[in-house]
Amino acid sequence: MRRQVLLALSSAALVLAVGCSTNPVTGKSQLDLMGEAGEIRMGISYYPGAIQGSLGPIDEKDVQATVERVGQAVAAVSHRPGLPYQFTAVNDPEVNAFALPGGKICITRGLISRLESEDGLAAVLGHEVGHVTARHAVSAYNQRIMATAILVGGAVYMESEDVKNRGLITLGAVIGTQLVLASYSRDQERQSDDLGIDYAVKAGYSPQGMVETQRILLDVQKRQPGFVERLFASHPMSAERLVTAQARIATLPVDVQGRPVRSERYRTEMAEVIVERPAWDLASEGQALLSKDKDREGEAKLAQAVRLAPEAGVIRTLHAVSLASLKQKGPAADEARQGARLSGDVYVSRLVAGELLLEPDPAAALENLEVAEKLLPGEPMVSLLRGEALEKLGRRQDAKAAYSEAQARDPNGDVGAEAARRARGLG
Ligand SMILES: [Zn+2]
Repeated sequence: MRRQVLLALSSAALVLAVGCSTNPVTGKSQLDLMGEAGEIRMGISYYPGAIQGSLGPIDEKDVQATVERVGQAVAAVSHRPGLPYQFTAVNDPEVNAFALPGGKICITRGLISRLESEDGLAAVLGHEVGHVTARHAVSAYNQRIMATAILVGGAVYMESEDVKNRGLITLGAVIGTQLVLASYSRDQERQSDDLGIDYAVKAGYSPQGMVETQRILLDVQKRQPGFVERLFASHPMSAERLVTAQARIATLPVDVQGRPVRSERYRTEMAEVIVERPAWDLASEGQALLSKDKDREGEAKLAQAVRLAPEAGVIRTLHAVSLASLKQKGPAADEARQGARLSGDVYVSRLVAGELLLEPDPAAALENLEVAEKLLPGEPMVSLLRGEALEKLGRRQDAKAAYSEAQARDPNGDVGAEAARRARGLG
């Protein structure tokens, strides 16, 4: 069971046009992998995969509204106000934020729950907008990384501000689109920090939000040193970034420096996410244990997380996966059903329910797989599982069609091969 959930890795081709354009921040001409239209297209096409690869959008209207409002405020005063910016709060419990080219930005639950003010949020989103406006993702520094990513099998290039939990990367592999984490150069990070402060200040926020943000990153690095060293080999450390931000803020007019930090409204609007943080931290620890094959300890942590936040659908889904790996089929199916019911628009929850409910309730499995297809169209694993559900429901012709769809979506991979084998079994 778990094998099927974990083996899904397909590829998507990136079509890139080469040309020259002027950098909106520096005013200099630069060689680009793509023009602005290409940049926007790329962001739009990979955003759903990036969101779902980060465990889907947080199912809280207030949280999404705040992230969107603050993000649009800093984007509006940026060097490229006309891009189709979009800001999404995602369920990943790690401390992170990232931007796709063209202005599609995500911030994680782990970071939102650690921030203390709207000014901190403005600094983070301003920093990400800075990567977009300065076109860092399409700069010469990243062309090499991107070329490699494309060679590896067509991957999304995306920036990651911080550490990704290994366990969640495994789960992220459920998403057909492979997300490649790449770091920016020191200079690019520094430039984005500067731009983040500028945009936040122009939008009326306190520049101290950047200090708040850098302190959080620094704290994470102190708590998980080994982790960070490996992943941050080419990433500037926050100690330096903190000092640099403080120095820059010191050059601003006194009244700007002294702007009050607004934390009350932030705490109210983000209350659900802040309150649930201990449960998600446990879930993250549980995922890390599972990724080290410590299934029993991982399940225990996730069960503890579920007791703390029984309404957190994605945690129920992660718990379902851990129960399945312990071969506890009945409880795993029940938990997967709850996960799908409580998660909102989360692909992974629907996929896991689609798989774990196949035997006890193929009709419910099918329903969940149809939702998964809408959330992230084109995944071969969804077609394969749909075929299995249809087969169990006695709909042979429909099952055959689903299997051939899986083959078409994954002509050279394991999922396509498995679909072909099952189609032959149907005669
Ligand atoms: Zn950055």
